[in-house]
Amino acid sequence: MTEQRLRIALQKKGRLADDSYALLKKCGLRFAIRGGGLLARVKNMPVDLLLVRDDDIPSFVANDAADIGIVGENVLVEEQLTAKTGLDADIQMRLGFSRCKLCLAASETGPIQKAADLEGTRIATTYPGVLGRFLQDKGINAKAVEMKGAVELAPSINIAESICDLVSSGATLEANGLAAFETILESEAVLIKSGRTLSPEKQDIYDKLLSRIDGVIKSAETKYIMMNAPKDKVAAITALLPGADAPTIVPLAGNDDLVALQAVCTENIFWETLEELKALGARAVLVLPIEKMMA
Ligand code: ATP
Ligand code: ZN
Repeated sequence: MTEQRLRIALQKKGRLADDSYALLKKCGLRFAIRGGGLLARVKNMPVDLLLVRDDDIPSFVANDAADIGIVGENVLVEEQLTAKTGLDADIQMRLGFSRCKLCLAASETGPIQKAADLEGTRIATTYPGVLGRFLQDKGINAKAVEMKGAVELAPSINIAESICDLVSSGATLEANGLAAFETILESEAVLIKSGRTLSPEKQDIYDKLLSRIDGVIKSAETKYIMMNAPKDKVAAITALLPGADAPTIVPLAGNDDLVALQAVCTENIFWETLEELKALGARAVLVLPIEKMMA
């Protein structure tokens, strides 16, 4: 019997690629990405990586070229809205990286300043599906002009009066004299899978991988906090700790007033919280990163 290997579709090169590789490496997968190859073999788990353009990932997952994939939600939703026969691929987990927004933008000083101003105009985009849904929902009549790239140039060469494009910092828009006036989709990297049943072997690998990804995402936000605290302030201090369960309290040798308090916080701990802890009498406060977690 041939070995069952879970196949994961990933962007080969681009804004999703490095963080996708990094996530899998943090999950303990060992692999090397070399020049031209389409497939990379994971050495220590029955997993293969299919390295492709991001636009192909949803249909590869839907059509069984890969079992799962990592792709921008923007690309997934666009494919779902434009696939002629429906797309069998859905979000299993949000991954928290490659955050961006799909925005409408137009000349800062021109006549288009809000969605209603789009009526009867032309909008350049690489996302006709998501744009079409937005226009339909709002009851706006406008023409989507589909482009493959360089959408931000469309107004200056008179192809369209406005654009619908991905924005992260807004610097590209600004450089072209454009300003965003509406967000139509917020996006981040997502893990996708089709509704097909996996073989028991692949299902095992998938379950293990999902639990590790979950652990990696949670541990990135989770911190371990330790301090010495006045005994009579333990309740007040615990109430300040974000997302902490019951803390561990340990007596301090030779000290009846203070205890050592330790807790796992599932949310970020800000300087403001540390200052409030100090005001309550906490001393020697340490905040430590957590490398791995398993619930
Ligand atoms: P490919 O060659 O794979 O088709 P591409 O040029 O279409 O790549 P990239 O620019 O690499 O795509 O962007 C891939 C995805 O990264 C986008 O679909 C989006 O989800 C996300 N993304 C886009 N722009 C940004 C950004 N500025 N910051 C973070 N993530 C972004
Ligand atoms: Zn692409």
